Amino acid sequence: MLAHVRIGVSACLLGQKVRHDGDHRRSEFVADLLANQVECTPVCPEVEVGMGVPRPSVELVRSGTSLRLVESERRIDHTRSMQSWARRRSLELRQLGLSGYVFKRGSPSCGVWNVPVHQKVGRVRKQGRGMFAARLMETLPLLPVEQEDRLEDERLRAAFVERVFAYARLRQLFRGRWSRGSVAVFHAAHAHQLAVHSQRGALELAQLVGRFDRMSRTRFRSEYERRVMQLLERPIRRTQDTAAMRRITRRLGEIRSEGEVRVLRRAVEAYAAGDTPRREAMTVLRRLARDVAHQEFLDSTYVFPDPRELALG
Ligand code: SF4
Repeated sequence: MLAHVRIGVSACLLGQKVRHDGDHRRSEFVADLLANQVECTPVCPEVEVGMGVPRPSVELVRSGTSLRLVESERRIDHTRSMQSWARRRSLELRQLGLSGYVFKRGSPSCGVWNVPVHQKVGRVRKQGRGMFAARLMETLPLLPVEQEDRLEDERLRAAFVERVFAYARLRQLFRGRWSRGSVAVFHAAHAHQLAVHSQRGALELAQLVGRFDRMSRTRFRSEYERRVMQLLERPIRRTQDTAAMRRITRRLGEIRSEGEVRVLRRAVEAYAAGDTPRREAMTVLRRLARDVAHQEFLDSTYVFPDPRELALG
């Protein structure tokens, strides 16, 4: 059981009045839902670096191959102080054990994608990354990150939440005394979850686990972590999802009566045909799996995700 999940959040999304104009940008999903299920560590780079509230607004400016963080009106350059703070703060956050991060879109400090960058000739290109976001993502390259605007999309939200909890479990696995056995248990619990993202990728990961004894522990760990997180970035396809449901249905068919399994089979095929939403098939599948109470189903992160993950998905 996963005890503790902590994520970093741009402080203004939690309703803190830290923006340059003294306002906030409270996000309902972040402040009301996410903060109820996981521990949120608020960070406002511009306040923490000492720019105060209110403060002059800043923007990213292209200078050769690098970006500068410059005040829009007075053109005061904050690049050096922001970079050295961001380096320190990213290391602190790594120590704190984050499992994800939600950034504010468009910010020259916090934005992840398409942040406006002012060019010398007066043009603006939406192609930058906020200075703090860039540093944190460099320090923690596997950390699941999202922008608050993208979390409005249900599919992206569910994918982010899934990655956060998987990353938290991976960190928990490798934090303790891990062994070939504990990796095998972890991998078995995640087998269906990984396969719905890519069966081929899941097979390659299983082969990696099989080579455990032929690699150094350091190399195994970094390969395994990287490949699990990359696999989870691939979108779930309905065909892979229903293939996993059918595999589980077949296993349940070996244990339960034909009548009980027939109900599940119908629910899975209705979802496969696009006639019913996924949750209907999963509800029937979980009910039957819970009745069976076999460890292979109870431990499966696909059949029974963390309750907090379910509440957020
Ligand atoms: S976007 Fe980032 S820097 Fe701007 S107010 Fe929010 S937390 Fe602070």
